[in-house]
Amino acid sequence: MVSAHQAEKDDSVTVVGHLINGELQYRSGPTQDVYNPSSGEVSKHIQLARKETVEEAIAAAEAAFPEWRNTPAVKRARIMFRFKELLEQNAEKICQLIGEEHGKISHDAMGELQRGIENVEYACSAPEILKGEHSKNVGPSIDCWSEFQPLGVVAGITPFNFPAMVPMWMYPVAIVCGNCFVLKPSERDPSSTLYIAELLYEAGLPNGVLNVVNGNKEAVDTLLHDERIQAVSFVGSTPIAEYIYSTANANGKRCQALGGAKNHAIVMPDADIDNAVNQLVGAAFGSSGERCMALSVAVVVGDEAGDALVSKMQERMKTLKVGAYSEISNDFGPLITREHRDKVASYIDSAEEQGASIIVDGRDIKVEGYEDGFFIGGTLIDNVTPDMVSYKEEIFGPVLQVVRVNTMQEAMELIDNHEYGNGTCIFTRDGEAARYFSDNIQVGMVGINIPLPVPVSYHSFGGWKRSLFGDLFAYGPDGVRFYTRRKTITQRWPSAGVREGAQFSMPTMK
Ligand code: NAD
Repeated sequence: MVSAHQAEKDDSVTVVGHLINGELQYRSGPTQDVYNPSSGEVSKHIQLARKETVEEAIAAAEAAFPEWRNTPAVKRARIMFRFKELLEQNAEKICQLIGEEHGKISHDAMGELQRGIENVEYACSAPEILKGEHSKNVGPSIDCWSEFQPLGVVAGITPFNFPAMVPMWMYPVAIVCGNCFVLKPSERDPSSTLYIAELLYEAGLPNGVLNVVNGNKEAVDTLLHDERIQAVSFVGSTPIAEYIYSTANANGKRCQALGGAKNHAIVMPDADIDNAVNQLVGAAFGSSGERCMALSVAVVVGDEAGDALVSKMQERMKTLKVGAYSEISNDFGPLITREHRDKVASYIDSAEEQGASIIVDGRDIKVEGYEDGFFIGGTLIDNVTPDMVSYKEEIFGPVLQVVRVNTMQEAMELIDNHEYGNGTCIFTRDGEAARYFSDNIQVGMVGINIPLPVPVSYHSFGGWKRSLFGDLFAYGPDGVRFYTRRKTITQRWPSAGVREGAQFSMPTMK
């Protein structure tokens, strides 16, 4: 098989194709530029799948399904064990690909990959998680059990910000549950996703069980309308999540669509402010704020805590190192595209115009040697109010906004009234306040002195309100539920010669 690294060349620029039926495939049709966001240069061209190419991938998955669904779970799991080893052995190469196209620094890319690997580890427990439920003697010689059968061909559509991890929230668990998968990753940073899929084949996956089609709306719409796709998992922005959810449902598909976020951290007057500053600086600016769990709003209770937080944060931000992905000592890198960089800058402009105080301004940052990169420096904005556009909308950049309130109740109301409900956190030394907060706040993932409460792989990930459309969270136990269909079987093996008479009333155990 040709590796994603040695993919076809087009005018000396590497072309990224698709992975269909276990082989890298190239098809004529439209392409799009892939950038190195650190240098601002075009590094590759990605092929955008047309309807026929997506249908080819669906057909490959459908053909692989009958044999795969009957492969013992323990054998499916063994492929995941080998996959995990290959991911670890090739970690540097994967992080290099992430850095080149996403821009995140290799220490951060390693963290992303490790979180993805943990989802593979969870998938290694396939025989355990698929054991089902059994009740003996629910009636005379009658046993009843529930088993969890795969759905068939399922699809995943993923965002740019975690090109390795988010696809691994989906297909490892979907596949060990016996499904075949068609993945449509982000067209902005496709290479690590494709390379990881190749590794899964190297681990022994039968052809067609995982297929990767690169593309844009045409590819997504084909998946949403094709009758052979039983379920769709989506992670990305809220407007697209809503579209995916309603279209998938209208076409009779099961769907979970995870959307955008605005994650608030409450800083209580009793908090250890130095610790809160350290946690906030990492969670607000890590990965340039391009995380759906990034803490983008600090809600500080009381002016004393507010003043202390802002001045200590301002001081701490003087040491932030922003630059190219390849320099490990950098704290964070560029944004994904020039357009996104400009959009983030325009949110800072709007906050300023609406009366907020720009305490640290990252708009004019220059990174030596990378003057054309898509950089914005860490930005701190104080005196933000809920009516401001920069507060209402997801910025998805290295911008921390401070909202000042007088009480914890006021802080919680602010969070509850926001349209998003992905993650939140409280910094406090007061156990009672923390317990009240976690019990009552209208948000799906809550941290107590934990800035990025991303659940481990054996729990599940998801937000509330307009951060998740659907009933089930991603990965972990909810992932198993999402990718399987319960079947309940009631059986009787009467003793030889025993005959039951006809029974016209509803059978009971009375
Ligand atoms: P995006 O919504 O632009 O794209 C996500 C996917 O949808 C991509 O594969 C893209 O090709 C596809 N897509 C884009 N426009 C489409 C359209 N009109 N029709 C059909 N498909 C379309 O998101 P992004 O910019 O890649 O990622 C950033 C967003 O993802 C942020 O809002 C972030 O909060 C969110 N996100 C959420 C989570 C979560 O778990 N809730 C995790 C990561 C990222």
